[in-house]
Amino acid sequence: MKKLIFRFSNRGSRESFNSKDILGGKGANLAQMAKLGLPVPPGFTISTKVCYDFYKNNKKLPSKIFQQVKQEIKVIEKISKKKFGDLSNPLLLSVRSGSRVSMPGMMDTILNLGLNDKTVVALKKKTSNGRFAKDSYRRLIQMYSNVVLGVESHFFEELIDNYKLTKGVIQDTELEENDWDGLITNFKEVVKEKTKKNFPQDVNEQLQGAISAVFLSWNSKRAKTYRKINFIPDHWGTAVNIQTMVFGNMGNDCATGVAFTRNPSTGKKEIFGEYLVNAQGEDVVAGTRTPKNLLSMNKSMSKIFQQLKKIFKLLENKYRDMQDIEFTVENNQLWMLQTRSGKRTAKAAIKIAVDMVQEKLISNKEAVLRIDPNILDTLLHPTLDEKAEKKIIASGLPASPGAASGKVIFSADEAEKLMEQMQDTILVRVETSPEDINGMHAAKGILTARGGMTSHAAVVARGMGKPCVSGSSEIKIDYEKKEFKSGDHIVKEGDVITIDGGSGKVMLGKVPTVKPDISGDFSKVMSWADKFRKLRVRTNSETPADTKIARDFGAEGIGLCRTEHMFFDEKRIVSVRQMILSKTLEDRRSALAKILPYQKNDFLEIFKIMNGLPVTVRLLDPPLHEFLPKTDKDISDVARELNMSNSDIKSRIVELHEQNPMLGHRGCRLGISFPEIYQMQCTAVFEALVECKRKKIKSVIPEIMIPLVSTAAEIQILKNLVDKTAAEIQKKYSTKIKYYVGTMIELPRAAIRAKDIAKYADFFSFGTNDLTQTTFGISRDDSGKFLNDYVENNIFNKDPFVSIDERGVGELIKIATERGRLEKKSLKLGICGEHGGDPASIEFCEKAKLNYVSCSPYRVPIARLAAAQAYLKKKK
Ligand code: PEP
Ligand code: MG
Repeated sequence: MKKLIFRFSNRGSRESFNSKDILGGKGANLAQMAKLGLPVPPGFTISTKVCYDFYKNNKKLPSKIFQQVKQEIKVIEKISKKKFGDLSNPLLLSVRSGSRVSMPGMMDTILNLGLNDKTVVALKKKTSNGRFAKDSYRRLIQMYSNVVLGVESHFFEELIDNYKLTKGVIQDTELEENDWDGLITNFKEVVKEKTKKNFPQDVNEQLQGAISAVFLSWNSKRAKTYRKINFIPDHWGTAVNIQTMVFGNMGNDCATGVAFTRNPSTGKKEIFGEYLVNAQGEDVVAGTRTPKNLLSMNKSMSKIFQQLKKIFKLLENKYRDMQDIEFTVENNQLWMLQTRSGKRTAKAAIKIAVDMVQEKLISNKEAVLRIDPNILDTLLHPTLDEKAEKKIIASGLPASPGAASGKVIFSADEAEKLMEQMQDTILVRVETSPEDINGMHAAKGILTARGGMTSHAAVVARGMGKPCVSGSSEIKIDYEKKEFKSGDHIVKEGDVITIDGGSGKVMLGKVPTVKPDISGDFSKVMSWADKFRKLRVRTNSETPADTKIARDFGAEGIGLCRTEHMFFDEKRIVSVRQMILSKTLEDRRSALAKILPYQKNDFLEIFKIMNGLPVTVRLLDPPLHEFLPKTDKDISDVARELNMSNSDIKSRIVELHEQNPMLGHRGCRLGISFPEIYQMQCTAVFEALVECKRKKIKSVIPEIMIPLVSTAAEIQILKNLVDKTAAEIQKKYSTKIKYYVGTMIELPRAAIRAKDIAKYADFFSFGTNDLTQTTFGISRDDSGKFLNDYVENNIFNKDPFVSIDERGVGELIKIATERGRLEKKSLKLGICGEHGGDPASIEFCEKAKLNYVSCSPYRVPIARLAAAQAYLKKKK
């Protein structure tokens, strides 16, 4: 039979398999710490494979497994010299989840397992600490009843709050043994009332219930949401870790804490953590008591602090990464409960990677592989303008850096709704819990009234790369009234605020921002990435401003200049409309002649910025009606401007109307019907080149790109048109022009007939937006309505418009690449759909042997890093 249960202390066995897959991250690391000789409470891990068996067995723990669990408990009993359920020296257990990758707070944990009405008396006697014993028992009832029996936790919390109010105390620690006695009785009554059963007294029943609950929590709503957001496969399952309880709540020589070996916000090499004296682990993250800075432990428990410092160093050296650690001190004895690679901000990720290379802990290749390209996003966006006027209304802890503005919203579901309407929100909560994960994902930033730097809000926000201000105690939230007060200010739901997660400030209104600083460590990592990548990174840009940003971010050319975007400019839209509304070729030509100088100047500006790098200019693509006025008022305005009648314009709009515009008169079809449009655009490009030459500006070699081609004949005709136009310009200005002609591959037929098409093309650029649309037959503009249903039903695990569908669209890309290169070895291949900036799709592009990816300016550094990772992973 396969081994399904693994003792932490089983030395040597772990190296022979990928331990995290089987033991989960927590289990693997506990075993590793035990192996290193660190103080780990004895225990064992039930493998992730059992999670699968559990679901196969109708969500019941197979009895054979439970027998093995009981055997292992015997081993723990021997080591700890305590007995599970014993009436003189009872062993208590913690039962905790642990999947391959950490999903903080998403799954369930049960502590103090093994207490009942009798063992609690034994525990009191053994420890001579009645308060501690009762406190532990009430915690078990609370946790177990909530997690295993489904009793909502607020029933218990309300009982405690009311009791404290009557007694006139504030802290839980001020409650005595007899107070807890009374509350335990009340808790048990709640359990009876809500579940119609008594709180289970049989410790084995408790254990079985707890293991099942942890497995069940793998499929809880919040865990599923977290997995969806983070693309964690459903079939991985969770392991269950069963461990001897150690107690941080036995008195003032006890404590519990969490620590990061470096600052997870800034990356600075300093111990960063919080702890509470006389408390259990959940108290630190729950935000009910304010934890102390771990550095102060150097005074209060200096021996333990020094021991911790040594362990931090050891673990960092072992894992060669910043660690996030949980520990407990029981009667001056330190116990290690967890270590894992810590979540960090983008800024910290970069600093830590660079520092670790300098410390010779990792190589620069590893540093490049360590940084999640997606989190760079937060660094690349503007930060608050220091000079801007700010109306600061509150401050809190700088829990996750970055600035965000948005409408105040108090519920996670509302934040999600508003995101669907493309509205920016700031989620404001007293504190967040794993239930809020959807809203935290949807909001631009998070503000909480309670909780420290390691609170749920802080940890999750850092992981998501979202700005967060936590523990802003000045703000008083009233969920009922949907408002919060801060001093004299009342902020209502829907009011706009700005938060700065770097300084912890909360401001009224939207505060202006400035460009990010991408020098220093950031540029160092980028230069390493550039050394390791093969794919070139270009940008999609059509304005000088965007082109400049992209160039500063390291773009190596333009992969897609959508010329139609240039048509919308206020000054030229009149001529564009005139051109579309023209009834004769002559009229159309005269309108185009007015647009020409504008287009020429656009290109000139862009060519100057791109200075010798390739620029792909795509000829007009969208259907013409997109440029026409929509409302009656606009129609009247245009009629006046063009000296036409309203009815003339309306009838032209009707003529141009299409049932299916995405598959209608667009792309190269426009060039076939109205060659003069493409001719004007090519003239603009070539004249801009001539101008560059004249002004001695280092010129670019333009790549003229024909959109929406599906047949070789289309590109043949249009390439002739481009060549003819170039010949005319060369003759007119007595100069030579170098240029390329190519096409987008954005229709399945084009991919299949790539060999024929390549005869007339110097390059292909995969337009994966349209290619995805046409391969699936799903409208890219309407998919939002049902995409969620597809993800929910596991038909898609990712939105195919975000991450390339490798099996379908990807297959077409491979076919086109192969067939195209068969015809023309030198064929240059790139991608310019949105996927060009998506790390997973970039990995695919590397495997498919494309030459470049092209993405929006702000994604250029992400693509540079992702391209390096793709190459390094392929080489492995
Ligand atoms: C595409 O279809 O992928 C593309 C880049 O073109 P557009 O988005 O402009 O249709
Ligand atoms: Mg397209």
